[in-house]
Amino acid sequence: MWLDSLWVATCPGCDAPGPPGLCRVCQDDQRLREAAYEGMNVWALAPYPGPTAKVLVRAKYAGDRGLMDLLGRSLAAAARALPGRWDAVVPVPSPWTRRFTRGFAPAAVLAARVAPALGAPLRHALRLAPGKKQASLDAAGRQRNLVGRLRSVRPVRGRVLLVDDAVTTGTTARSCARELLGERTDAVDVLTLVSTGWGDAADRS
Ligand SMILES: [Zn+2]
Repeated sequence: MWLDSLWVATCPGCDAPGPPGLCRVCQDDQRLREAAYEGMNVWALAPYPGPTAKVLVRAKYAGDRGLMDLLGRSLAAAARALPGRWDAVVPVPSPWTRRFTRGFAPAAVLAARVAPALGAPLRHALRLAPGKKQASLDAAGRQRNLVGRLRSVRPVRGRVLLVDDAVTTGTTARSCARELLGERTDAVDVLTLVSTGWGDAADRS
């Protein structure tokens, strides 16, 4: 019985048996769309929740860097179709304590694939000091939780593409953008793997 597990691969999104990697159903979940966030250009590859979001949760909580990189390659391939050019790609930072326990920073793994695909330099321009997890807080709590913890450590000129793994309330992305714009950055757009706002902008227009 244990031999079966060596020979039958399952989709990391939905556990369907098949060749290694995401199955067709889960791949169909990934369509780059504009997500609706006021005052910010946000593009998201897939809805949250959904199959891609499920893979993301697995990658993060199992500390599976290979799986995270698989998602990064999907995001990078889709990002080539984005309408724009950026002077730098900046990942949303993770606190060092979480990088240490997980072994990687999710947004940094994604950004490392996206930057070369767009021909833009990868810049770790932001730092986040350890604190409470954003996911456990509401929008106002998230905002407060970032005050004094998030800071720009390497000013970036021009137009920045901020990369995150998940955008829900948009609070973290907004705080990162504000931090960058307060330095030398002219404009900040956002690219995320999954978002609760995925498809909303298209539905409204
Ligand atoms: Zn699947």
